[in-house]
Amino acid sequence: MLNTLRRLLGRDAAQGRRPVEVIARPGQASLGGDDRVVDFRCNICGTRGSLPYAKFGREQWSCQGCKSTSRMRGIVHLVTMGLLGTDAPLSEIEPRKDLVGLGMSDWQGYAKRLAEKFDYLNTFYDHEPQMDITDPPPERFGTCDFIISTDVFEHVCTPVSRGFEGVRKLLKPGGLFVFSVPYNLEGATVEHFPEMHEFDIVDGANGKTLINRTKDGREQRFEGLVFHGGEGATLEMRVFSKQGVIDELTRAGFVDIEFFEGAHEASGVIFQEGWSRPLLARAPK
Ligand SMILES: [Zn+2]
Repeated sequence: MLNTLRRLLGRDAAQGRRPVEVIARPGQASLGGDDRVVDFRCNICGTRGSLPYAKFGREQWSCQGCKSTSRMRGIVHLVTMGLLGTDAPLSEIEPRKDLVGLGMSDWQGYAKRLAEKFDYLNTFYDHEPQMDITDPPPERFGTCDFIISTDVFEHVCTPVSRGFEGVRKLLKPGGLFVFSVPYNLEGATVEHFPEMHEFDIVDGANGKTLINRTKDGREQRFEGLVFHGGEGATLEMRVFSKQGVIDELTRAGFVDIEFFEGAHEASGVIFQEGWSRPLLARAPK
């Protein structure tokens, strides 16, 4: 297991760079005070860059070429390492149109490059090409070599286990799931609407209000809704915990769950935060 992780994460992990398990908010310097300059090459567009270590972060763009963040490069690192065993930039790898992949509202900066290299389709919950991961199309079951979902599952309707099962159904045996969500390091996943069944979001006296009718017909009202970057499908349904993520993946049958610990500096994948790391998991063979 450890050898697999080292192989996946590459040289930096193999040399024993410490995982950054300290809590530092995005935008702050790392608590380790690491202000040396990191030379890197973006693994999405191939642009070279140099930045102080503290300027890298999950959500800060750090590539001058494609404006990618560490999260986006981390996702692509797990895809190319997991599929091909390479950390070469997407812009330079040989096309492999025999490898089938799906994205869920993936960032355009890598979606268009993935589509050039693989038989890859980016999908959306609310427009074409449409896919609801809790109810995936049976004709696609067992067809995917890889599926990417970054910061989507906190918005998937309850029960979220259906989403994880959906991914598993779509993957071929041994297929790759590259995944991220925001998560806390401690405790359990917190579901904001655990009895969600039929719901609507309306304008109430105190702002947007979610009205839910439970399976047994009770009406529930929720105020103080949290939306990420807009409204509609961006309603925060839950806050995951790390253990909650592991439990959902395990329950859905995934194996070889590996979080992106440490860093891969050569590609500028550096997180200041110990939480919400991308991960890789596989469908069983
Ligand atoms: Zn780039």
